[in-house]
Amino acid sequence: MSSGPAAMWVLMGGDPARRRVGRVSSSDSFAGPIDPPLALSRHAHDRIGSQRVDEEWLARAWERADTRVLLLHDAKVALAGSGSPAYVAPAAAGRGERVLLGEESGTTYFAILLDEPPPRHELATLREIAMDLDDRDAGLLVHAVGLAHWRRTHRFCPRCGGTLRMGQAGHVLECASCGRSSFPRTDPAVIMLITDDDDRALLGRAVRYRHRRGFSTLAGFVEPGGSLEQAVVRGVAEEVGIEVDRVEYFGSQPWPLPASLMVGFFGHATTVDIETDGDEIAEARWFSRAELQAAAATGEVVLPGRVSIARRLIETWYGGELPGSW
Ligand SMILES: [Zn+2]
Repeated sequence: MSSGPAAMWVLMGGDPARRRVGRVSSSDSFAGPIDPPLALSRHAHDRIGSQRVDEEWLARAWERADTRVLLLHDAKVALAGSGSPAYVAPAAAGRGERVLLGEESGTTYFAILLDEPPPRHELATLREIAMDLDDRDAGLLVHAVGLAHWRRTHRFCPRCGGTLRMGQAGHVLECASCGRSSFPRTDPAVIMLITDDDDRALLGRAVRYRHRRGFSTLAGFVEPGGSLEQAVVRGVAEEVGIEVDRVEYFGSQPWPLPASLMVGFFGHATTVDIETDGDEIAEARWFSRAELQAAAATGEVVLPGRVSIARRLIETWYGGELPGSW
């Protein structure tokens, strides 16, 4: 393979004529090579990581009347009356652990991980409101919800069992007994649309899907010591018995439910005979574009939701929007 920017362009986005690749920019709000960006890869805030250890700066920022605070409880987000995330002044935030999210348009944003549910707000999961968020809200929420899930499940030191205290404005947990630092973790998962030499797409119906006509791309977790590319090849072989010889990066989006990063790929199959494992995939089929359009239109096949990277992989291959969703 040749090297340099042109090769990188192809590697990241595939055939620009077919895949509507966005321009690569160096700005802080760059959300990947996909245009428009994936719903949860959008963001507008600057994380100002260097301020997390500046206690004086943090105290001053918290005292400013124009600082805004997201309220989280049990990794759910408090809503305003409009149904969008509630932003309150620090004085109205309530009791809990304080997390610095960053700055946007001159405003500093924090989140509070509330001990008790907020009395005057309804709570929603990120999944419930993901498609209704603007860029700023999407970026702040995935940041805050990811940290909230992490904190919720990390109460004791993994080395000595001691109590963990939050540091760096929510971005590290330090053990009060042995001093060990724990950092937030992100677990990569691969999501892959596999095509064959006839440019048909391989979609599967997972055993765990509640929707019995729900079809999606295949997916898999990255095991310790494994690469993303290996996870794609191994996952397809194990789930449907298909061999893959080429893997091409598409894009990624955070999925902090609780701690995943979804990494999307296109892959090319060298075999076509499907043999499902029965454990994870109940059924898998090859679809031409016309077949998938017809099946989605009649409801014979129901495709994943529009916030998912799987949906975007399928519609990018298809070349436009398809009807229906979970
Ligand atoms: Zn410890």
